[in-house]
Amino acid sequence: MKTFYHSTRSADEAVTSKQAILTGIAPDGGLYVSDQLGQEKLALSDVVTSGYHAIARNVLSVLLSDYTADEISSCVAGAYAENFDTPLVTPLSPVGSDWLLELWHGPTCAFKDVALQMLPRLMSTARTGTASQGGVMIVTATSGDTGKAALDGFADVAGTGVTVFYPAGKVSDIQRLQMVTQRGGNVAVAGIRGTFDDAQTQVKRIFADRALAERLAQEGVVLSSANSINVGRLVPQVTYYFDAYAQLVQAGTIACGDAVDFCVPTGNFGDVLAGYFAKQLGLPVGQLIVASNTNKVLTDFIQTGTYDRRREFVKTISPSMDILVSSNLERLLYYLSDGDCERVASWMASLSSEGIYTLPAEMMDRMRETFSCGFATDEETRATIRSTWDEQGVLIDPHTAVGKCVLDRMAFEGRQRVCLSTANPYKFSADVLAALGHDVSGLDGFACMDKLEQVTGVVAPTQLSALRSAAVLHDTVCDQAEMSGFVEDACARVFA
Ligand SMILES: *Cc1c(COP(=O)(O)O)cnc(C)c1O
Repeated sequence: MKTFYHSTRSADEAVTSKQAILTGIAPDGGLYVSDQLGQEKLALSDVVTSGYHAIARNVLSVLLSDYTADEISSCVAGAYAENFDTPLVTPLSPVGSDWLLELWHGPTCAFKDVALQMLPRLMSTARTGTASQGGVMIVTATSGDTGKAALDGFADVAGTGVTVFYPAGKVSDIQRLQMVTQRGGNVAVAGIRGTFDDAQTQVKRIFADRALAERLAQEGVVLSSANSINVGRLVPQVTYYFDAYAQLVQAGTIACGDAVDFCVPTGNFGDVLAGYFAKQLGLPVGQLIVASNTNKVLTDFIQTGTYDRRREFVKTISPSMDILVSSNLERLLYYLSDGDCERVASWMASLSSEGIYTLPAEMMDRMRETFSCGFATDEETRATIRSTWDEQGVLIDPHTAVGKCVLDRMAFEGRQRVCLSTANPYKFSADVLAALGHDVSGLDGFACMDKLEQVTGVVAPTQLSALRSAAVLHDTVCDQAEMSGFVEDACARVFA
């Protein structure tokens, strides 16, 4: 059976999962969804005796069934190998009476690796059998983290290339070094004179540039994005919910069939939506707890039924969750409205024109059967980092701390509880060090890393500490007007 996807805003045009992955976003601006979600369940008794690779193959074969078993096997084997620093890929560790699901053992030390090590392979595979010449050039503007995860994922994957723009002087030393030291024959990196928003605006312009698209098409090259709304980023995240469950059963903590709660530090709603997908595929999920920082649009939405982005954007110490429009929520609206594309389209139209929409009460009741919510301020986040270290001896990053703070406040329902840990604390050394009560003024990124090692005895991951001596391979800094030319040059070089 093939899996078919269509837009959340119209069911008129069905595409295969391969096409959905190559296209990214539907032509009408909607997100690709499949009406087959939940029709085929995973056999839980098999899952709980399996390891990560087998579970990933199982999940992918259900959700992306137009890939052959061989294609899926080779994508999984390539995505989760020595590039992760543990064969468990996403190990579970105890924190008090709860669990942390460590999603940061990949090459860039953040959870986006789990999906971005897979997406390029899914894209490359989807292209085989089509044109032999050219390829897909991923173009991304980054405020720091996603760019590196995309670079690392796409580096040297056949038939693909990746170009990343970051705002020069506006990312941390370590973030910059992570990007400018990236190896691979198909990667391009440039700082731009301007802000992240400037970079983002120019990238959108590049995507909308018809003349450029036509010139590239003659060489068989298409531009695409590695945005978290791509089906190929969502699906790989479903795996670790099942794998966490398998780890709990294998450790004798739960019996097969017991329900488990998951608390998810949330920004664009991709990670927590993958938990909902896991539930639809038969995983016994109790509650999915949506944890937000001060940009608590989702907390207010789940409590009131009104999504209102008309508010001040706050910069917090959990920057990957600083989001006012959680794009992937659109997919949940589709499923909760029983696939009512017209209503989804009208809510989204209202969000973009008025900045607000309200869902009917019965839909919110359905949502609350599975989703609970809460938020943590920066002050509460720092207090959680400190208490988790002082009382449990566990060092966590600010995003994970938002999740743990929210989880700690929830009444215990008698189920095992897993908090998703989305970044290694050393990615945010300065904020973590400050949260532990140390003075960080005047310290650069590596000095903070050293001091954090000294005071905690927790070793920094080599992926980050090795940057100190890595060679800088990309020193371009350009004006915004030069970005389009930079992309075209990169395409010519990569797909020559
Ligand atoms: C992207 C990110 C998140 C938010 O995940 P979403 O899928 O956007 O909800 C949380 N923590 C970290 C460290 C991230 O990089």
